[in-house]
Amino acid sequence: MLKKNKVSWQCDKRAVKQGDDMTQHFDLIAIGGGSGGMAVARRAAEYGMKCVVIESGRLGGTCVNVGCVPKKVMWYAAQLSHALHDAPEYGFDAALTTIDWPQLKLARDGYVERLNKIYARNLENSAVTMIAGHAAFASNNSVAVNGEVYGAEHIVVACGGRPTVPDIPGAEHGITSDGFFELASLPRRVAIVGSGYIAVELAGVLNALGSEVSLLLRRQHLLARFDVMLREELMEQMQDDGIRITTGVSLASIERTDDGTMMLHTDDGEMDGYDTLIWAIGRESKVAGLNLGAAGLSINDAGFIPVDPFQNSVVNGIYAIGDVTGQAALTPVAIAAGRQLADRLFAGKLDAKLDQSNIPSVVFSHPPIGTVGMTEDEAREQFGDDVKVYQSRFVPMYYAITTRKPQSVMKLVTVGATEKVVGCHIIGDGADEILQGFAVAIKMGATKADFDRTLAIHPTSAEELVTMR
Ligand SMILES: Cc1cc2nc3c(=O)[nH]c(=O)nc-3n(C[C@H](O)[C@H](O)[C@H](O)COP(=O)(O)OP(=O)(O)OC[C@H]3O[C@@H](n4cnc5c(N)ncnc54)[C@H](O)[C@@H]3O)c2cc1C
Repeated sequence: MLKKNKVSWQCDKRAVKQGDDMTQHFDLIAIGGGSGGMAVARRAAEYGMKCVVIESGRLGGTCVNVGCVPKKVMWYAAQLSHALHDAPEYGFDAALTTIDWPQLKLARDGYVERLNKIYARNLENSAVTMIAGHAAFASNNSVAVNGEVYGAEHIVVACGGRPTVPDIPGAEHGITSDGFFELASLPRRVAIVGSGYIAVELAGVLNALGSEVSLLLRRQHLLARFDVMLREELMEQMQDDGIRITTGVSLASIERTDDGTMMLHTDDGEMDGYDTLIWAIGRESKVAGLNLGAAGLSINDAGFIPVDPFQNSVVNGIYAIGDVTGQAALTPVAIAAGRQLADRLFAGKLDAKLDQSNIPSVVFSHPPIGTVGMTEDEAREQFGDDVKVYQSRFVPMYYAITTRKPQSVMKLVTVGATEKVVGCHIIGDGADEILQGFAVAIKMGATKADFDRTLAIHPTSAEELVTMR
C-alpha cells in the first residue's frame, strides 16, 4: 500500500477554497455510496487518501438494495419453484402448493440489511468517512450536504440511476423494479411493460412463482442489443413457460377501475384486469438536485454525464462513474471504473482506465442467458464473409427424465482464418455460471482451435462449447 506522502505529487493540486463556508477538506469526495462510489473511495483510501462517501439512501446503492442482490434471491426462489415442479419425476414426493411470499421477502430483506451493515463496516475499516445525506454541488470543487460544505481536489459523481416512468396519464398506478421489491404479496395478474433485461427477469420470476404474467413490448423483440439467437430463443421459451408476450403495444393511459384492477388503454384497444403493472422501460440518471450547474457540469441529450475513457468530466477534477455516465449499466463496470480511476489519480498508473471491450453479462431469465463479445450481426457487419458461426442446440441431461424439455443453445462467433472467437452466446441452464470462464478465454484472444484442444468435462452442458463442429 502506498503512503499518502509518497503519492501526493500525483494529485492534480487544484486550488481548493478554504473559506468560512468550507467545513472540511478531503482528497476525494464520492457522491453516492453504490457500487462505483464505494469502490473509488475505498481504493483511494488504500493509497492513503482522505475520502468521504456521501449517500442519500441506503449504502450499497442499486445493486445491493433494489438490483442484482434481491433480484438474484428472487431468481433462486423461481429456480426452486421449477425444481419442485420437476421433483416428482425424479421420484420425490414433493408437492408444489403456494409460496409464502412474506417469508421470502423477510428473508431477502434481512440479507440486504446485513449487507448494508457490512458495507458500512467496510467503509469504516477502510477509514473512509461516510456522510448520510443528499449531496449537491456548491462549486466546482465543493459539495453541500446537510447544510455543510465539503471541499475536495477530486469529486466523483457516482449517483447512479433510477427507473424511468413514462409520461402518460395514470402512469402512477404502476410500480417500477424498486416497487417490485416492496410488494407485500405475490401479484395475481401482472403486466410488465418493457423488453430489456429487467423486464424479462421480473417476468420469469413472477411467472415461476405463480403470477399470471403479460409482457408488453413496444416493438417486436426482447433484448434489442443481444444476439438474434438469444432474443428469439428466449421469447419462445418464455411463451412455452406460459408468459403472454404481446408485441407492438403502445400504451396511451392507465386507469384504475372500480374493482381495484387496472385497465390499460393502448393506441388500438384495451387490456384489463391487472392488479399490478410494472414499468421496466429503461433507466435514467439520478442527477436531480445535484446542482450540476454550480460545478459547470451538464448532462448530454441522453440524460447522462458525459465522460472521456478516463472518466473525466468536462470539468477538471470532477469525474463520473457507473450508471450516471450511460456506460454499460452493470455493477462490475461501475466498480472497475472506480478502481481504475483511483489507481490513475493516486497510484501513478496514468493509463489506468475501464476496459470496455468484451464485457460479459448475464440475464437472469428463465432459462438464463450468458453473453460476451460481438453478436453475429455485429461481426458480419464488421468482417463480412470472414465470419464463421458455430451453434449447438440440445436438451440438457437434467431434462432427460422430465416432461419439461427446455433447450439450451450455444453460439460461437469466429473471425478470420485463425477463427478467433469474438462472441460467445449461451441460453440455457447454467449459462450464468458457464460464461465467466469462457469470457476469460475470449479476453485472451482464444481461437476455435484453442476451444477444440480443451478436453470436455462430461457430462455437462458446458462441454458443448468445446465440442462444436
Ligand atoms: C432490478 C435491477 C437488477 C440489476 N441486476 C444486475 C445484475 O444482475 N448484475 C449487474 O451487474 N448489474 C445489475 N443491475 C445494475 C446495477 O445495479 C448498477 O449498474 C449498479 O448499481 C450501478 O452502480 P452505481 O454506483 O453507478 O450506482 P448505484 O448503485 O445506483 O449507486 C448510486 C448511489 O448514489 C446515491 N445518490 C444518488 N444521488 C445522490 C446524491 N445527490 N447525494 C448522495 N447520494 C446520492 C443513491 O442513493 C445510490 O445509493 C441491476 C439493476 C437493477 C435496477
